Amino acid sequence: MSGYFIETGWVNLAYLVASVLFIKGIKGLTHPRTAVSGNLTSALGMLLAVVVTLLANGLDYQWILVGAVIGGLVGGVIAVRVQMTKIPEMVALFNGFGGGASVLVAGAAFMITANPDVQTTVSTGLSGLIGAVTFSGSLIAFGKLSEILPGRQISFPGLRIFNALVGLGALACVVWLTVDPSATIAYWVIVAAALVLGITLTIPIGGADMPVVISLLNSYSGLAAAATGFVLMNNVLIIAGSLVGASGLILTKIMCVAMNRSLGHVLFGKLGPSADGPSADDVYGGKVKSTSPEEVAMLFDTAQRVLVVPGYGLAVAQAQHIVRDMANVLEERGINVEYGIHPVAGRMPGHMNVLLAEADVPYDKLREMEDINTEMEQIDVCMVVGANDVVNPVARTDPKSPIAGMPIIDVDKARTVVVVKRSLSPGFAGIPNPLFAADNCLMMFGDGKKAITELVSALKEG
Ligand code: NDP
Repeated sequence: MSGYFIETGWVNLAYLVASVLFIKGIKGLTHPRTAVSGNLTSALGMLLAVVVTLLANGLDYQWILVGAVIGGLVGGVIAVRVQMTKIPEMVALFNGFGGGASVLVAGAAFMITANPDVQTTVSTGLSGLIGAVTFSGSLIAFGKLSEILPGRQISFPGLRIFNALVGLGALACVVWLTVDPSATIAYWVIVAAALVLGITLTIPIGGADMPVVISLLNSYSGLAAAATGFVLMNNVLIIAGSLVGASGLILTKIMCVAMNRSLGHVLFGKLGPSADGPSADDVYGGKVKSTSPEEVAMLFDTAQRVLVVPGYGLAVAQAQHIVRDMANVLEERGINVEYGIHPVAGRMPGHMNVLLAEADVPYDKLREMEDINTEMEQIDVCMVVGANDVVNPVARTDPKSPIAGMPIIDVDKARTVVVVKRSLSPGFAGIPNPLFAADNCLMMFGDGKKAITELVSALKEG
């Protein structure tokens, strides 16, 4: 089977249309209401780009078809079967494969180019470097998230110096390749060094920080693709790669700001309880009031406004559907139920939006943190389900706390707060939460799904 040829002008016009579709698609992804159509718009752009690329250059389709069928099947099966809580792992794998593909494509294109110019050699070297870091770094991130590898920070003395030397060595090989394009060995040295670098840059980062790292690696995979675009002189690959690179960086920044941590702190620092912070006994001793589903059901007798604040525990318990059932029962009684969404609640950006959308919670019921905080005094009952750090008032009150300055949902200002979690165990940041000992707070201990199921039964009986 041999292919077709399309004139360059038409090809570039089609690429331009595809790029506009990518940008429109990304814009759509910025709001839950338009996210599905945004995803489809971008996918349409990608389909156009792929079809035009396949038709443009007189390719032989045999192996392309074999690859597309095998890749499509594997990707399709993984995407259909993956659990919502495992999406970060899947994204990590896909980023890694993107980086690996850039290494192979750029390397292969370079090897068959007669007399490569400086642009080609520099882009090939950078594609190998960034792509290989992305590949091995993403595999480590995948291993840590899926608990195949230990999630703790693994480091050894002199690691940063080692990384700096390996990085400089790889860059020196990019220069070597540029000066002497016939030295293809330089390319493989770059790839080998970058594979090591991907591992040594990622292992010192704790498992819980992996979502930030994945977002950064996503950005790298885009940069590697853009560099490969320069090797192939393929405009749409340059544009798509740059879009991924830029959006990944923006997302990384948003996540760091929402956690009130610098990127450097995530990559090289530690997050842990401050040594001189108060102990759990100091914070909770004799002050925590536990409650039962029946008592909580009675609280709703006089309530008019209820706010649900979901967190990581809601995802673990898979309590989104039963929370929606609870909201239905309350709404039938004329109570206004809304959801307060913190940007980093859960373990990946948009985690709560995705879970609540899965349970068909209407988008207009989701309130952003800054917005709902201004109305918190008017909330009669605030139900915190499996959230901890994102509602911890020490972020406002204790400048020495590891979460000092992190914006939080001010649930402690609601009239009554009910916290649903299994114990007084800390969240991701590892620190006690004085909210649980506050006068207006009741603890409903139990697994999120089980506790809310019991509450719904109590509401229906009451
Ligand atoms: P936290 O990690 O602070 O707390 C989650 C709570 O859920 C725990 O205290 C746990 O308590 C409870 N829990 C666990 N399992 C269950 C269950 N089955 N039923 C009920 N409760 C359960 O979560 P938040 O969402 O409040 O905060 C997210 C944290 O993750 C922040 O510190 C954020 O910075 C960090 N983070 C978020 C990222 C993102 O992109 N979203 C990325 C990286 C980090 P117990 O064991 O007592 O049940």
